[in-house]
Amino acid sequence: MSKKIHVTDTILRDAHQSLLATRMRTEDMLPICDKLDKVGYWSLEVWGGATFDACVRFLKEDPWERLRQLRAALPNTRLQMLLRGQNLLGYRHYSDDVVKAFVAKAAVNGIDVFRIFDAMNDVRNLRVAIEAVKAAGKHAQGTIAYTTSPVHTIDAFVAQAKQMEAMGCDSVAIKDMAGLLTPYATGELVKALKSEQSLPVFIHSHDTAGLAAMCQLKAVENGADHIDTAISSFAWGTSHPGTESMVAALKGSEFDTGLDLELLQEIGLYFYAVRKKYHQFESEFTAVDTRVQVNQVPGGMISNLANQLKEQGALNRMNEVLAEIPRVREDLGFPPLVTPTSQIVGTQAFFNVLAGERYKTITNEVKLYLQGGYGKAPGSVSEKLRRQAIGSEEVIDVRPADLLKPEMTKLRGEIGALAKSEEDVLTYAMFPDIGRKFLEEREAGTLTPEVLLPIPEAGSVSSAGGEGVPTEFVIDVHGETYRVDITGVGVKAEGKRHFYLSIDGMPEEVVFEPLNEFVGGGSSKRKQATAPGHVSTTMPGNIVDVLVKEGDVVKAGQAVLITEAMKMETEVQAAIAGKVTAIHVAKGDRVNPGEILIEIEG
Ligand code: MN
Repeated sequence: MSKKIHVTDTILRDAHQSLLATRMRTEDMLPICDKLDKVGYWSLEVWGGATFDACVRFLKEDPWERLRQLRAALPNTRLQMLLRGQNLLGYRHYSDDVVKAFVAKAAVNGIDVFRIFDAMNDVRNLRVAIEAVKAAGKHAQGTIAYTTSPVHTIDAFVAQAKQMEAMGCDSVAIKDMAGLLTPYATGELVKALKSEQSLPVFIHSHDTAGLAAMCQLKAVENGADHIDTAISSFAWGTSHPGTESMVAALKGSEFDTGLDLELLQEIGLYFYAVRKKYHQFESEFTAVDTRVQVNQVPGGMISNLANQLKEQGALNRMNEVLAEIPRVREDLGFPPLVTPTSQIVGTQAFFNVLAGERYKTITNEVKLYLQGGYGKAPGSVSEKLRRQAIGSEEVIDVRPADLLKPEMTKLRGEIGALAKSEEDVLTYAMFPDIGRKFLEEREAGTLTPEVLLPIPEAGSVSSAGGEGVPTEFVIDVHGETYRVDITGVGVKAEGKRHFYLSIDGMPEEVVFEPLNEFVGGGSSKRKQATAPGHVSTTMPGNIVDVLVKEGDVVKAGQAVLITEAMKMETEVQAAIAGKVTAIHVAKGDRVNPGEILIEIEG
C-alpha cells in the first residue's frame, strides 16, 4: 500500500527567515511563482511574524499587498502562515476582537492554512484563533512547540494534540524550531500521535544539528503525512531539509511525493541566484551547529546573545550565559524556547550573569510570566522567585486574554486617518511603533527600503589596501542609481566617526554616531554615579518611561524609570527615600551603565 507524502515548501517564509534575516523581497518571489504553482506542493508557507515585521521595518513593503500579490500569482497552491495564537504576529496578548479581525483579514487576503502555536503550549491561547479560522472556512493547524524537559513527555504532547483535535483543528504539526528532535524520538512521538488521535501529522524540523532529514524519514516511516522542506539553495543548517533531497529520498518508495524533480531543479537554480543578492544578510551561524543537542539553546538565541555580549565587551562570558539559560528555564517551569519565551529566558539569564547576582534585576516580562500573564507554565515555577518578583501581587490562572477588553475601536482611533483600511489598523496593532512609522512614511511618500549592497564579483568592487574591504558601491534608491566612493575615514572622537564620500563625483562628509556605543561611556555627557541617591542602570539600554519628576518624594524601592534592553523592559528603583532633585534623562534616551540618570536627596 502506498501513501503519498505531502510537501510544504518554506522558501517564501521560514527558509529566508532562517538564513537571510527574513529579507527576501516580493520582487524576487513573483517571477518564480508560476513555476512554484506548478510543482504540486500541498502548501507554500508565505507569511508570519518575522516576514510581516521585516516588510514594514526594512523593506518598506505593505505585507498585506505582498500577500495579495502572492495569492494572485499562486492560484493553485494553498498559502500557509504561522500565527502565534493569541499573540498573533506581535509580542503581547491581544483581545479576542483583534484576533478575530486579524484572522478574518488574513483569510480574505489569501491565507488558506493557519499553523497556530503558543509558546507555552497552553491550548487556551489557541482557542479563539482556531475558532476564527474555522469561521473563515480555512484550515486550522494546531501546533506542538517541541522541546525537551522532565515535563515534556510523549504523553503530554499526545494530550495536547487531543485537546487541539477537540477544539476543531484540521491537522497537527510538530514544530521543532530549534533542531532538538532526534530521529528515534521523532519516530516514537509520531507513532503515538498517529495511534492516539486522528488528525494528519505535519513535521516541521530545523536542520540546525544536522538531524532533520533523518527525523523526517523516521516520521514518515511512523505515519507522518506531511513534511516541511526548503528548496535546496535555501536549505539545511538552520533552515529545513532540501525539497529536492527529500523528494529524491522518497521517490519510488511507498511514500513517493509525486513532485517533479526537474521542475524543482529549475526553482532551486533561480533561488541560488536570488540568495546572492542578499549576501550582506547571510548570518555566520547558518551552518550545522550541534550545540543545541547539548545545551538546548537554539542557534538563533546564541547569535543574539553573542551580539549582546559583544556590545558589553563581555563575549568571554558566553559559556556562563549558556549555562544559566537552562537554570532560568527550570525556574520558569520549562517553557519551550520560541518567540517570545526565548527572549524572556535569554535576557534574564544574561542579566543574571552580568549583574553578578541571580535575579538582582528581574525583567518586567519575567514578572508578567510569573504572574500567569503568558498562560500556564508547562511545569512548576520557582515559588521563591515568584514571591521575589511579584511580592503580594495576585497570580492569574485564567486565560490571559480573558482579562482584556475589546481593542479594535481604540486601535482605529489611535491610528486615525493614517489607516486607509482595516488591514492598516491591524498593521499598527501588530507593531505599534514601526507600523505607525510605516503608515506615516507611506502618507508622506517617503518610504525608503534599505539598500542592497552590490553582489561582490571580480571587477565590480575595488578593494582598499589589499584588505578586501569594498570602497566603491553602486546603490539604487527609488529607481535612481548612484555611485558612492568611500574616500576617507576620520578618527573616532566622542563616539562619532567622520566618513568622507563622493556620491556621483560630488564630495560629501557623513558623521556616523553609532547607536550601540557603550564601551567606556565616551559617548555620553552624563556623570558617573557615586552616591546612593544617584539612580543608574547596570545594563545599557533605552529609556521607555520616566516615572517621576523633579520635586517628587519617593520611597526606597519605588520604581522611577523603565528601561528597555534586548526587547525586554526593566524597572529601575530608587535605592534611598528622598526628594528628586534632578532628572538627566527623557523617554527615548540611550543610556550606559553607571551614569547618573536621576538624583535623589535623602
Ligand atoms: Mn521554523
